[in-house]
Amino acid sequence: MTARILVVDDIPANVKLLEARLLAEYYDVVTATNGADAIETCENGKVDVVLLDVMMPHMDGFEVCRRLKSDPATSHIPVVMITALDDVSDRIRGLEVGADDFLTKPANDLQLMTRVKSLVRLKMLTDELRLRASTTRNIGIEELLSRRQPSEGTPPHVLLIDERPSSYERIQSMLRNKMQLDVATDPHAAFFQAADAPYECVIVSTAFADFDALRLCSQFRTFDGTRSLPIILLADPGEEKRVIRGLELGINDYLMRPIDQQELLARLRTQVKRKRYNDHLRASVTQTIEMAVTDGLTGLHNRRYLDSHLQTLFDRAVARRRPLSVMITDIDRFKSVNDAYGHDAGDEVLREFASRLRKNVRGIDLACRYGGEEFVVVMPDTEGEIAEKVAERIRAEVAREPFPAGKDGKCLDVTVSVGVSSLRRGLDTVADLMKRADIALYEAKRAGRNRVVAKAA
Ligand code: GH3
Ligand code: MG
Ligand code: MG
Repeated sequence: MTARILVVDDIPANVKLLEARLLAEYYDVVTATNGADAIETCENGKVDVVLLDVMMPHMDGFEVCRRLKSDPATSHIPVVMITALDDVSDRIRGLEVGADDFLTKPANDLQLMTRVKSLVRLKMLTDELRLRASTTRNIGIEELLSRRQPSEGTPPHVLLIDERPSSYERIQSMLRNKMQLDVATDPHAAFFQAADAPYECVIVSTAFADFDALRLCSQFRTFDGTRSLPIILLADPGEEKRVIRGLELGINDYLMRPIDQQELLARLRTQVKRKRYNDHLRASVTQTIEMAVTDGLTGLHNRRYLDSHLQTLFDRAVARRRPLSVMITDIDRFKSVNDAYGHDAGDEVLREFASRLRKNVRGIDLACRYGGEEFVVVMPDTEGEIAEKVAERIRAEVAREPFPAGKDGKCLDVTVSVGVSSLRRGLDTVADLMKRADIALYEAKRAGRNRVVAKAA
């Protein structure tokens, strides 16, 4: 897929120059010659990376960046600031307003392309997560994100991999009280350390006497557990080629010695901020998917989940010639619980019932809230006779001890009726199986409740 790059510069010749270089690499290029137009283009949609000149009349690059980064609709678009001089204070100001990277004019071709490529890759990842997050449920991304608290404010947890005491001690003092920093001096052990703990960024020094730091970076990118861990490479002047190679391997950023404390802090914060944003998105996606198949009241699977999985379990049982049983439970006279003690007490009974149910089935059994006060348990590899015993155990477990309900320590006697059915090979469909369990349940009710009826195969 082609990425779209927005080039912003008030001098048309500069725009043309960058545009030509990007077009030569088959990027899609859009341009703007002032800040207001740039912001509008970003708001209107598909921009993957912004290359932003700092020095512009009316609204300078810092202000444009600050506005883009403070608007939730555009804050995820990576911004590269282009500074005229290699001026550290400009870089720091840029990082403070949220810029993702810097290039100095005139931009070195290789650096320009590798930075753009690495930011495009990150943007694609974020886009995919945003898309998944917003399409799994038909809600806006901002609402989704606001449902979970991001870990903002806690000091970033950082691992520094560096064997030279003079170097790591200096960094330790720069980050003291600002980050939670660990130091690893053995690069082999460091890999496992990084994979084991929830680090939010690693800083890898290139200056090992006897080890290639890029090998470690490449390992981090290959291994699932560290793939999304940001890497900042710490290089010495003259190592530009290695840095570029590192960027190709997937490092996220680099610093050249001598290290400036403000720049180090700002780059670390940028990486951690982005990682937290993506982790937050990823967790929201997972949570949304879970929410769609989970019953909110009891935490059991819901009917939607049962409907999509029962057929799979059924087909597997048929194919492997294994037994399969199903039980439907229905709490007796549950309406009167609500009527006498209120809906909240009723909910409490449902939660307690679900918990007793869960404790009395195996991990491979599929327990679901089917609706209201009806629950279904699908039991793979289980003959009817065994299923009936399980059902009886659940019935007894419910009747044995009253259910707590309400704040004042009130207890209620609750009973449940259960219908059980088992797979009849060659004769059954999923619907038949469920139907027989339902008929059995109805018989249990009719026969006086608080009992189990099984329809043998
Ligand atoms: P039976 O012994 O024949 O099953 O009688 P019953 O009262 O349990 O059966 P009925 O199906 O008439 O009533 C079920 C009641 O369950 C009606 C409804 O108010 C209640 N109910 C359904 N879902 C919930 C819920 O989520 N919370 C609460 N508190 N009550 C619910
Ligand atoms: Mg009912
Ligand atoms: Mg009932």
